[in-house]
Amino acid sequence: MAGFREATGDLRIEDVTKSFGDFTAVDDLTLSVPRGSFFALLGPSGCGKTTTLRMVAGLEQPTSGRILIGDTDLTGSRPYERPVNTVFQSYALFPHLSVRDNVAFGPKRRGHKDALAMADQTLELVQLQHLAGRKPAQLSGGQQQRVAVARALVNRPEVLLLDEPLGALDLKLRRQMQVELKRIQTEVGLTFIHVTHDQEEAMTMADTVAVMNHGRIEQMGPPAAMYDLPATAFVANFVGQSNLGEGRVTGRDGDFVVADVHGSTVKIPASRCAVTDGRVLFGVRPEKVHLGRTSHDVIDRDRKVALGDDLQATVLDVSFIGVATQYLVQVPSGATWSVYEQNLDVDPIDLRPGDQVWIEWDPAHAFGVAAEGAEILAGSVLADRTIPTPPAETPQDATS
Ligand code: ATP
Repeated sequence: MAGFREATGDLRIEDVTKSFGDFTAVDDLTLSVPRGSFFALLGPSGCGKTTTLRMVAGLEQPTSGRILIGDTDLTGSRPYERPVNTVFQSYALFPHLSVRDNVAFGPKRRGHKDALAMADQTLELVQLQHLAGRKPAQLSGGQQQRVAVARALVNRPEVLLLDEPLGALDLKLRRQMQVELKRIQTEVGLTFIHVTHDQEEAMTMADTVAVMNHGRIEQMGPPAAMYDLPATAFVANFVGQSNLGEGRVTGRDGDFVVADVHGSTVKIPASRCAVTDGRVLFGVRPEKVHLGRTSHDVIDRDRKVALGDDLQATVLDVSFIGVATQYLVQVPSGATWSVYEQNLDVDPIDLRPGDQVWIEWDPAHAFGVAAEGAEILAGSVLADRTIPTPPAETPQDATS
């Protein structure tokens, strides 16, 4: 969009550590966010996401390490000296000012003569120009959030930081705003860094997701690739659901690593297995697993072949969720696995709790991660029993 300055370089965080007394909140973090991309820092509460964001904003200083945009070293500079703005979860709009004046506040303070025109242009970008005369109290939560985004964007930062910006919105509005934020980011072409603990939100919006745990990045990459092939047990559990089983590598079969998981033999593509011997944590996503009445009953519809690996299991629970049915089944290790079957057939497999079934999957979809450090209960866990919803469906302007 005309008038918005493009970022002049990648944001680079180099060997950054932040300690509060004896506690290390961010632990030797190094990452590079390509200019103009939508980057999400995803992780559980307390993993160090906000501290990282605050260091980029200049609201905290690293204990060691450097933060740069392009070749400019920002370390040590004050928040208002940085080409960075932050949108926080609490909108903190000035209640006595109109929407237009709220957005024009930053440019006016910096002496821009055309502050109101800049505000109008930015309100157009967030599609709120028709509400420019209203006071914040006369807006919905989603509209206030968009004013907060406009208030940050009007300062023409090179990097926009979003700290759980959708946390105060209800689910439906959050979904709408995810799409809206992505549209705005694409239109202005600025670097957006979004902090969230909501894996679905991160995956919906970001080009690149970095999963943080205990102050470190566990894995970073495009959302689809990370979902397909988690690198650690933590990521397998935190990004989507995974059916996991702890086992031991017993050998090789061509391109596959073979493992024994609680007496069952499973195969994992060698290219998808992070360990080659010893303990392994086997995993397969719930939608990659299918149910049949008998062994090898489940046939790949395209390839007309049996899917491959299977296990006998007992149905624990059946939940119809519209587009799919979720089954919870108990596998031989005693663990509960989750299975999603798309509701394609008019006459679906009629299963009830207590029924014996075979669960089957294509070994090409299996993955293996290191078992060490994984929090595994009874040898195998279902990480999360919540049913994921399909994807897609403020401010304190602290830095300038
Ligand atoms: P949340 O999603 O709950 O905001 P987060 O991943 O953003 O979590 P941070 O706010 O970065 O986490 O905090 C990381 C850790 O650092 C936490 O254990 C927190 O208690 C600690 N911490 C953050 N700020 C301070 C501070 N000023 N003094 C002491 N400890 C702090």
